[in-house]
Amino acid sequence: MIDTASIKADLDLRTIVERDLGPPAKRSGQAHLYKCPFHHERNGLSLAIWQDGYRCFGKCDRAGDLFDWLMTYHHLSFLDAVALIGNNCRQHNSYGGPTHLQHHPISTTEPPAPEWQSAARDLIVIAEDTLWSSTGEHALAYLLNRGLNTRTIRDARLGFVAGHYQQWRDICGLRVPCGILIPWLAAEAIWAIKIRRSYGHPKYLQVAHGSSHGLYNADRLHEHTTAIFCEGEFDTLLLQQEAGHQVTPVTLGSATARLTTRWLSELVHHRTLLVAYDNDQAGHNGYRHLQALSPRFRRLHLPDGNDISDFYLNGGDVLNWVTAELTAIQQQGTQ
Ligand SMILES: [Zn+2]
Repeated sequence: MIDTASIKADLDLRTIVERDLGPPAKRSGQAHLYKCPFHHERNGLSLAIWQDGYRCFGKCDRAGDLFDWLMTYHHLSFLDAVALIGNNCRQHNSYGGPTHLQHHPISTTEPPAPEWQSAARDLIVIAEDTLWSSTGEHALAYLLNRGLNTRTIRDARLGFVAGHYQQWRDICGLRVPCGILIPWLAAEAIWAIKIRRSYGHPKYLQVAHGSSHGLYNADRLHEHTTAIFCEGEFDTLLLQQEAGHQVTPVTLGSATARLTTRWLSELVHHRTLLVAYDNDQAGHNGYRHLQALSPRFRRLHLPDGNDISDFYLNGGDVLNWVTAELTAIQQQGTQ
């Protein structure tokens, strides 16, 4: 049995959050206050962190303890969160330390078990059929409204699991949340199945027992010497659709997910590694983590909009933007 109570008593959540978000913007009594990264807060300091827990007093109302923080902010399973703390305790005698980038162990995790992948394969087919049936009409309309065309949607093998946003269904022996299904296929394996729910926090959930160590769209890395790291799958698909003949967009699923050595080794021959994360604290931290792994990672800034989809839907020309950025980088390189 895992003694979570004694782990929590030994650790100060404020120290851990400081490693993730930097020093607090303000202190109030025992609490450290931050802009809440979960609802991308701009103006206030709604997130309060204490020794033993956190709460957002703003829009998203999230709250929890040390484990909730690791699971939510780092997208870890409970067991992975326990393992992360365990590793850090053993290696450094504390979770924490002054230079936190070096302390994140880089894992070389394998894809899920073959039985899971086989069930996931069946699930993908069922969900695809549903998306293209009358049941999936609204989900398909949503995807088209995000700028994805039918070919992109089919190539990505997106699907739909009908049901209430809070519901989980048993399909092919898997526990599946309801919503738009996004298969994570790479290197002849199914790494994970993500679900974009129509409502609720968090917006994205995973089918139980998938891996959180995949790299979405990694199979196209060999096509170009430029890779662009996006925050999410839909931005990645949109960039693939609009500029896929020039660059390979990939995603770890969020700015807080971490790149493993397995994928880093596939990037050694890439001349240019760009990071198009959102312009917020989580995006900045995610970029710093990538740059700590390789100095070749460079930040790519959107001309306007919060993310690539925003930019595109506001009339932005994604291909023009990417081409202009690449030209600028090449010119810098030859100077
Ligand atoms: Zn919040």
